[in-house]
Amino acid sequence: MNLDTDFRFNLTSLAGAFSTDDDHTTGSSLAQEDVESDVLAAYKRALIQSAVRSRHPSSSSPTSSTPPNDADPATATGANEPAPHPLTLRRDRHSSYLTRATTSLSSSMTSLSASRPWIVYWLLHATDLLSRGDPLPEPLRLRAATTVLRFQHPSGGFGGGVGQRPHLAATYAAVHALGLTRDTHVWERVDRAGMYRFLMRCKQPDGSFVVCEGGEVDLRGTYCALTVARLLNIVTPELTDKCIDFIARCQSHDGGLAAIPHSEAHGGYTFCGLAAALVLGQAHMLDLDALLGWCIRRQMPLEGGFQGRPNKLVDGCYSWWVGGVFELLDAAFTLRDGRQGSSKQERDTEASLRPSMAWNRQALQEYILLACQSDRGGLIDKPGKYPDPYHTCYVLSGLAAAQYAYDVVADDQGLGVRFVSREGEVCVVGPVDNLLHPVDPIHNVRPDVVEEMGGLFRKRPLDLETLKGE
Ligand SMILES: [Zn+2]
Repeated sequence: MNLDTDFRFNLTSLAGAFSTDDDHTTGSSLAQEDVESDVLAAYKRALIQSAVRSRHPSSSSPTSSTPPNDADPATATGANEPAPHPLTLRRDRHSSYLTRATTSLSSSMTSLSASRPWIVYWLLHATDLLSRGDPLPEPLRLRAATTVLRFQHPSGGFGGGVGQRPHLAATYAAVHALGLTRDTHVWERVDRAGMYRFLMRCKQPDGSFVVCEGGEVDLRGTYCALTVARLLNIVTPELTDKCIDFIARCQSHDGGLAAIPHSEAHGGYTFCGLAAALVLGQAHMLDLDALLGWCIRRQMPLEGGFQGRPNKLVDGCYSWWVGGVFELLDAAFTLRDGRQGSSKQERDTEASLRPSMAWNRQALQEYILLACQSDRGGLIDKPGKYPDPYHTCYVLSGLAAAQYAYDVVADDQGLGVRFVSREGEVCVVGPVDNLLHPVDPIHNVRPDVVEEMGGLFRKRPLDLETLKGE
């Protein structure tokens, strides 16, 4: 399906989409008005560009596969050239931004010295998503591997920098960044026995994880620990014992998930909790209907993007943290209702009833393409913000999530669930060149990384019984 002929933002249809402050103006309601004004201005500009473009005699058919046109639609003025489609993903510009960021990070990012594995992961994954099929350049992969392996701690796990204590978040980022190097020699340098010991040192009797020894309990720690264990094939009953109990206790009264029980639900924790529950094969222990409702309510009626919590502003990074949850919900509902492995015809019939049909993929893509692309390259939170590797990574991940649909297939390799993108069911808003690579809905790397890295270590099981006694 290609949707570049019709804009969602027919301005009359948005008349009822503006927020209301119920005659009680607050700082939040004023900020919301400002954002709506900025986003609407971007949408109006696109409408004008579209109208001008459609009158141009050499304007190509909108559904044709036009060569990538990376010029800025706002500044293209060539008399004999049609302006680029306003919904063009400025792919080359974003790739150039990532290349620049790899060599010279801005001062705000270099101050994140404890987050260096994250920066490597964000840059590699975003570059990988934007690539046109080429593998990541070898110098980039080598540099990433050399950098990240230096953060491996002698006691297991990865720290945020050289000599830093291991931390579950840094460990997730490091292992997935190493996955993206697609180099088995690099993967073999991960100390899996040490990793298992580290994970077990973080594991708590109630099924939660502390993010580091002596640190706080946080649902993100559960996600990081279980996804890393899954990739490295070091999942044991001891590691997963009571994990689902803790995750379920983090589900709040309104359906989303929080960092810890009895806290406010948040998009990031909701993603982490459901993804971790799927790794465990126990997502049915959550109230999935309430979770679906919570996620649907996070999509902003006018902007089309997602907020991370009720009464907060839209933010491009929740394109992944909330937009990415819908495919997880598809899998969770499928497994709960026992539809896994049903025939293709049955799956097609059921497709219209999927949770992933309950959100507006087109609206999210329009928000990303019209409001989240920085003119200088890189992707942003909302109009007026500056690009950074974090938002570039998660906005692009969200764009990919909005473009693909997946089937959950019976897993014969010990992964719990596997996702396979549905052939021919891409939904691309704008030129067809906007189509990114698919992402694995649990791990947020391209699916081949999960298959290959997970596959390598499933062929090489560790004797974890021996480790338990150490
Ligand atoms: Zn953000």
